[in-house]
Amino acid sequence: MARIFNFSAGPSMLPESVLNRAAAEALDYNGSGQSVMEMSHRSKVYEEIIFGAQGLFRQMMGIPENYKVLFVQGGASLQFAAVPLNLLTGSGKADYVTSGQFSTKAYKEAQKYGDVRLVASSKDANFAHIPDLDPAKFTPDADYFHICHNNTIYGTKWPVLPQTGSVPLVADISSSFLSEPILVEKFGVLYGGAQKNIAPAGLTVVIVREDLLGRARKDIPTVMDWKTVAENDNMYNTPPCWSIYICKLVLEWIRNLGGLAALKERNEHKAGLLYNYIDESRLFSNPVRPDCRSLMNVTFVTPSDELNARFVKEAAAAGLVNLKGHRSVGGMRASIYNAMPVEGVEALVAFMKEFEAKNA
Ligand SMILES: *Cc1c(COP(=O)(O)O)cnc(C)c1O
Repeated sequence: MARIFNFSAGPSMLPESVLNRAAAEALDYNGSGQSVMEMSHRSKVYEEIIFGAQGLFRQMMGIPENYKVLFVQGGASLQFAAVPLNLLTGSGKADYVTSGQFSTKAYKEAQKYGDVRLVASSKDANFAHIPDLDPAKFTPDADYFHICHNNTIYGTKWPVLPQTGSVPLVADISSSFLSEPILVEKFGVLYGGAQKNIAPAGLTVVIVREDLLGRARKDIPTVMDWKTVAENDNMYNTPPCWSIYICKLVLEWIRNLGGLAALKERNEHKAGLLYNYIDESRLFSNPVRPDCRSLMNVTFVTPSDELNARFVKEAAAAGLVNLKGHRSVGGMRASIYNAMPVEGVEALVAFMKEFEAKNA
């Protein structure tokens, strides 16, 4: 059967070459006589995979020496708790910006652990833009400042990062990981689940500046303490072995495409095809403030719920699946992560034009 174009917000498409390679190695990885799913995480053959993945991560993102790359489990959602448990131990204060559903969840989770302050929110605008900031509201002695870099559900991305001075900036980058170059040194911590842009579900990547290790609360669960994970080379307990292996294959694919700068160009081209068409369409519109548009999640609506529903249904019949928007916003959303081919976006735009001709 032909592969469909899957616009799911996550888990989402993986590069076809990666899937083929994983299939070819499913019974016998590199002459070991076993699959990666079966092998001991402490074996020599697996060490090459996990250290290889880590090295490629550093290389592709240009991660400075004084940062650790951690491979953990539990999703970004567990990090909503891990962040305060690891960091909220100095002044016990932290600043949060809510720009969508995940950052709101992170904010609520952190409230269990300290004096957590909301410094800005765009909730009143239904999160159609990144909140405007008033630095006078920032807490000068906060233990950290938390944002969500790309808002998966609302289709927004920070156009410029907040200036937090000596307060470490912590960002959830689940849905923008590896999609374009990012200056890691601007952040204290970057974290995200792998299932949007990196690998199958099960792997969570945390990039943390070394001076932020060793601040955790005494009662933190051991596996959530970033220092424990770092000191044990991601092997304190069993890592998500297979997902890390796919992560390594995806990173090799990124390297072969020319790295994150090349990917950014590709992603801008793909998102541009959609936004440019939507902007001139008489049927579809994008609710996001233009300077905050996401490269990864493109939201759009027609003037009626009935037409939206019909669009989603007819698109699926044409092999363009998972275009329904999140239940909290309605309308449509096309998630066009790294692995979505340009042809998938072209097919979507062509389908939208046809739909518009019939229905506008
Ligand atoms: C998907 C997503 C999450 C939730 O990730 P889990 O791995 O399911 O916990 C959190 N933040 C963002 C930005 C996401 O896109």
